[in-house]
Amino acid sequence: MTENVYRIDLVAADQQQPADGWWGSVTQMGPDEALLDARDLGASRGDGIFETFGTMEGRVHALDAHLARLGRSAHSLDLPEPNVEQLDAVVRRAAQEIDAPGQASIKLVLTRGVEGTGIPTGWMVVSAISAETFASQRRDGIDVVVLERGYPSDVAERAPWLLAGAKTLSYAVNMAALREAKRQGADEALFVSTDGYALEAPTSNLVVKLDGEFVTTPPVNGILAGTTQGDLFELLEGWGERTAYRLLTIDEVRSADAAWLLSSVRLAAPLRSLDGQPLEVDVELTARINDALLGR
Ligand code: PLP
Repeated sequence: MTENVYRIDLVAADQQQPADGWWGSVTQMGPDEALLDARDLGASRGDGIFETFGTMEGRVHALDAHLARLGRSAHSLDLPEPNVEQLDAVVRRAAQEIDAPGQASIKLVLTRGVEGTGIPTGWMVVSAISAETFASQRRDGIDVVVLERGYPSDVAERAPWLLAGAKTLSYAVNMAALREAKRQGADEALFVSTDGYALEAPTSNLVVKLDGEFVTTPPVNGILAGTTQGDLFELLEGWGERTAYRLLTIDEVRSADAAWLLSSVRLAAPLRSLDGQPLEVDVELTARINDALLGR
């Protein structure tokens, strides 16, 4: 697999670009070179944040939206404010450097650093994504099961310390939900709140088409504000479609005309079943959406 790994020497948000440019703050790591101190709080406590950007032929999708979300995540965790100009430049350059003919992903991680130093650690992993990787899920759809998240839909407001809606490194629960979905014979999980609303999937957002309108869960309800969902809504509005943010019950998702899980690298994967009950896959619309998302 084609993969590049870089260490980033993070600088304060107000620091000016040095004469040799922001790429000077990046060191490419060899395959056997150590990147992380064992005392790093990102490793020992999952205390940090990340973003996964999708790229196509060197273009980074939704770069500004990802960096804005990274800033919000940093704020939620009381981490130092990231220098957006630095990260914008290094992500763009990394997207150009990867030897990949089509899609790639860039995972950018910022941790609280080694305990006691107060200096955040930063790195990037850039991976080529083959055209086949998600082709069948985008075309044929995915089987999804509903799993409890254990939170009410107003958790973000009631208990901000739970960090619902921040993209933290603490994804062990999300990965466990995906394994549970697989144990149940499905591809994906859809989280439901304790008050019965469809939230998001472990690594993607839900969009449903219901009575001719495209609906997604509002980010204020403790879910991640999706960059792909945001771009999809812009595209749909440009095509003259109606979009809305509101809470959806699981029954509404079941009765939808079509539904998708949206994320930066897989893009739009249509739901072909929910808890074993078949859902309609709109093959033509899904292909149009994915072509437009890849063409960004
Ligand atoms: N929700 C969660 C919990 C996620 O982890 C992700 C992506 O990683 C998303 C939604 C989708 O966000 P995006 O479209 O920005 O990739």
